[in-house]
Amino acid sequence: TKGMRKTIIAGNWKMNKTPSEAKALLEEIIPLVKDAACEVVACVPYVDLATAVEVTKDTNIKIGAENCHWAESGAFTGEISTGMLKELGVEYVIIGHSERRQYFGETDETVNKRVKAALAAGLKPIVCVGELLWERECNITNEVIARQLKLDLWGVTEEELKNVVIAYEPVWAIGTGKTATAEQAEEVCELIRMCLKTLYTLEAATGVTIQYGGSMNDANAAELLAKTNVDGGLIGGASLVPEKFAKIIEATK
Ligand code: PGA
Repeated sequence: TKGMRKTIIAGNWKMNKTPSEAKALLEEIIPLVKDAACEVVACVPYVDLATAVEVTKDTNIKIGAENCHWAESGAFTGEISTGMLKELGVEYVIIGHSERRQYFGETDETVNKRVKAALAAGLKPIVCVGELLWERECNITNEVIARQLKLDLWGVTEEELKNVVIAYEPVWAIGTGKTATAEQAEEVCELIRMCLKTLYTLEAATGVTIQYGGSMNDANAAELLAKTNVDGGLIGGASLVPEKFAKIIEATK
């Protein structure tokens, strides 16, 4: 069944790189990943998007945003709509990243609104779920993940689910250098697929790409990606280092 799913390696640049720096970084990445066996995505800051789309237009790299608002337009100072992203040629959008939830007050309710707006606009949301360290220590990881999935995907149809990517990002593994073991990653990615089966159907669940994210790098990618339910990665720090990002992509072969 793994072969039926699209393997996706996506970089999450977070708040790094000005437009000129983004151009230079992408120009370094392009030749290194041109023979990729997987889908390659770079999710970049809003102000870098136009440049990123332009620089990658004849390449195999797809561009994603790091968030979007749910309203089409209106009095939402500082926000960016799905229509704005779509017009630029953006294909993917990260939604519900733990940094958005932790530092910017995003909740499962607002994540759900963003997911639905992204899908309605024809963008592919990369929906991030994951437990905090204390939640893992309290043995409630499964409940946390099940709850996030149910709420974040509320009202998303089975047809729309085909355009949804789920990223399992244990919050304690993000930017900490502490990667989940391949077994821990597989355990939760399998649980995510079981939750999707409960919420939708076995067929729908089988088709969803589930990424792992959290200190994934060139040294641990192969082991994580070899797992049955790990269909890709959402890469923070290592996506800013062309050789590392390319090696992670190489590990999907
Ligand atoms: P990291 O970030 O790879 O730097 O841990 C992953 C993410 O936050 O998406």
